[in-house]
Amino acid sequence: MKIISEISEMQRYSREQRCEGKKIAVVPTMGYLHEGHLSLIDKARDAADVVIVTNFVNPTQFAPHEDLDSYPRDFDNDCRLCEERGADIVFAPAAEEMFMPGRSTWVVEEKFSKGLCSLTRPTFFRGVCTVVAKLFNITLPDYAVFGQKDAQQALIIRRMVRDLNFPLEIIVAPLIREPDGLAMSSRNRYLSEDEHRRALAISRSLFQAEKMLQKKGIADLGEVLSTIVDNIIEAGGKVDYVEALDSETLEEPTEDAAAVLIACAAVFGKARLLDNIVVKID
Ligand code: AMP
Repeated sequence: MKIISEISEMQRYSREQRCEGKKIAVVPTMGYLHEGHLSLIDKARDAADVVIVTNFVNPTQFAPHEDLDSYPRDFDNDCRLCEERGADIVFAPAAEEMFMPGRSTWVVEEKFSKGLCSLTRPTFFRGVCTVVAKLFNITLPDYAVFGQKDAQQALIIRRMVRDLNFPLEIIVAPLIREPDGLAMSSRNRYLSEDEHRRALAISRSLFQAEKMLQKKGIADLGEVLSTIVDNIIEAGGKVDYVEALDSETLEEPTEDAAAVLIACAAVFGKARLLDNIVVKID
């Protein structure tokens, strides 16, 4: 496995691979890898000849008061995990080369970026779209793999790819959980043992909501959502949002919705945790 840090070298490598007729899959990450990230590498491996994992803590998606400086990092271990999992390249650019002084161009998606995470992080998806568009232009992939863990992000990137005609296919991989149900996240490392145990209220109440929805349909959505909120507050969490939306449009679900996304963001200790579940409606 090769580690590349320069943008021009990465582009040159990808161009050469494409000239040889190879298909490239990219897995964008911010590092501090766990099994959730590694499952994306498996999907990339299945889809393409060359797998590039990008490892870049994107400063433009953090607001000034957020955890950019303390975001967990372990580059050597990440590279070891990528190699073991069969990645070909780790692309780890320097922030100074990715975002030059005086930069003045952003990529903004304006439908799916409304609501959910944007309620508390209004410039977050602008940072995500901009860095992902740049990573696509640098790694020149045929496929890009994202996790359902960040359901809103996956919809936004899909829309960006469609609207800006990026010549690639988006693959969305399932959300991977700890054996106890907590959605895997690099930020789980902020949790003490006690906070981790209490944060299980998130996944537990989402599973409970899934059962309620399967039994009663979308008629009692309000009750389903308030049960989730109550459970999280009772466990000592602070709820950013709990919402039930049409999983394709992120609009209020109607009786015609094929599936409902129940998405939640809640803070336990120093960790803001995301989780979601998609419930098919018969
Ligand atoms: P991050 O490093 O947190 O920015 O995540 C990089 C990619 O990994 C994103 O596409 C995430 O959706 C995905 N990812 C993170 N955690 C999980 C998980 N538990 N299961 C599946 N994918 C995940």
